[in-house]
Amino acid sequence: MKSNYIAGEWVAGSSVRENINPSDVSDVVGHYAQADAKQAQLAVEAAVDAFQAWSVSGVQARSDALEAVASEVLARRAELGELLAREEGKTLPEAQAEVARAGQIFRFFAGEALRQGGEKAPSVRPGIEVEITREPVGVVGLITPWNFPVAIPAWKIAPALAHGNCVVFKPAELVPGSAWALAEIISRAGFPAGVFNLVMGPGSEVGQALINHPSVDALSFTGSTGTGARVIAGAAPRRAKLQLEMGGKNPLVVLDDADLAVAVECAVQGSYYSTGQRCTASSRLIVQKGILPRFVAALRERVEALVVDDARKPGTQIGPVVDQSQLDVDLEYIAIGQQEGARLLCGGQRVQRATEGFFLQPALFVDASPEMRIAREEIFGPVACVIAADDYEHALTLANDTPFGLTAGLCTTSLRHASHFKRHAKAGMVMVNVPTAGVDYHVPFGGRKASSYGPREQGRHANEFFTTVKTAYTAP
Ligand code: NDP
Repeated sequence: MKSNYIAGEWVAGSSVRENINPSDVSDVVGHYAQADAKQAQLAVEAAVDAFQAWSVSGVQARSDALEAVASEVLARRAELGELLAREEGKTLPEAQAEVARAGQIFRFFAGEALRQGGEKAPSVRPGIEVEITREPVGVVGLITPWNFPVAIPAWKIAPALAHGNCVVFKPAELVPGSAWALAEIISRAGFPAGVFNLVMGPGSEVGQALINHPSVDALSFTGSTGTGARVIAGAAPRRAKLQLEMGGKNPLVVLDDADLAVAVECAVQGSYYSTGQRCTASSRLIVQKGILPRFVAALRERVEALVVDDARKPGTQIGPVVDQSQLDVDLEYIAIGQQEGARLLCGGQRVQRATEGFFLQPALFVDASPEMRIAREEIFGPVACVIAADDYEHALTLANDTPFGLTAGLCTTSLRHASHFKRHAKAGMVMVNVPTAGVDYHVPFGGRKASSYGPREQGRHANEFFTTVKTAYTAP
């Protein structure tokens, strides 16, 4: 049984949870301790105790410990990728790439730990010096979703520690394996006891305990918009610092002048890879009428040929849906789309494979209209719908007609349209001739509207959330 990690000790929880392989429900990946609210509180207290020394620790020590994590994660990418694919269901190449990404993130922040500086400014009052510096925020609670079980934890934990904060990390219940493996590596990397703590367990209890605890100075959350609203409602009144990354309903616009092969590749990768379970997935394909018939025919051919099977089987392109309840949601939306009058061109059925898993044939809807629920609500599965657009202006209006604002994609060979779209798409990230899903780790990540709240994640911009600014005046 894998335990929680609190104050530098491995401790059993109040119950145990089985981790099930979504490609084969008879395969138990492992047994994981479940913390309760009391243990979450102990973890926060451990972080509070550790903060005083850690917050003023030398940056070399922080950098060395982060680099130790990076090196081990990268060295073990094959093994950790296998575990990730087994517990979450993304394909082995996707899982190994995610693990490598986590290692790169730790390496980047090993560097960032050394690059912290400040500013000096002249005072408007004679004889006074002004200094602007950044200090750690304090104890940060990190709550993560199941769809990137190691990369999202990495992009929260690494900057938190690099900037001198203490961490209480609560991973998603569905994927404790990758979180535990990462925590085990961190536990041996040289961080003092209490600086990093892992509490696995249900969000409604363990997550809520972090939201409510007055000593948690900041909360970084990634998950659904509904849970995000709970984080705001619980933590904003006590003035905790908040960073929330939530859902998306990302558009991919295809103009008549697009390179067809590029557009189809962007749609296949962006809509269906990782089983469509990405906040950055392109679930609305907004296609100009001139290219529409050719685009739909070519896309259909590709979608029908996608290989849906066990995540770890060589050749699999689309792994299973993560669990029964997400599969139920996907199937329900596929039924809703048909009831609303969209045409299901291909896919959308549960399929059987050698093992019992949550396999779903990727679904492509055409003749969708922007007010349909399948075009407005996040499904979080391998389901995309095509909406016709008259011209570029119409396509841009449709693209922006959403409560979300995470990514927006455009396929075009027109510099004028590309430039205009980059400026006018109402999203935090814009992709031209590349899939809406797939981002770099050294630049800011985040969205607008219902997709995000608070400062950006990743890259140098991560310091906006994980530090607090101090202005000092000195009369020498
Ligand atoms: P959830 O919101 O259900 O869960 C996210 C995390 O919050 C989990 O750790 C969960 O714990 C925890 N949680 C649940 N209820 C509470 C609560 N009352 N208080 C505190 N914590 C709680 O999201 P999913 O895990 O289902 O992830 C899918 C969602 O994440 C999608 O909407 C997707 O768009 C979004 N997402 C956004 C990204 C972005 O960067 N914008 C990136 C990736 C995903 P438990 O697992 O135990 O329920």
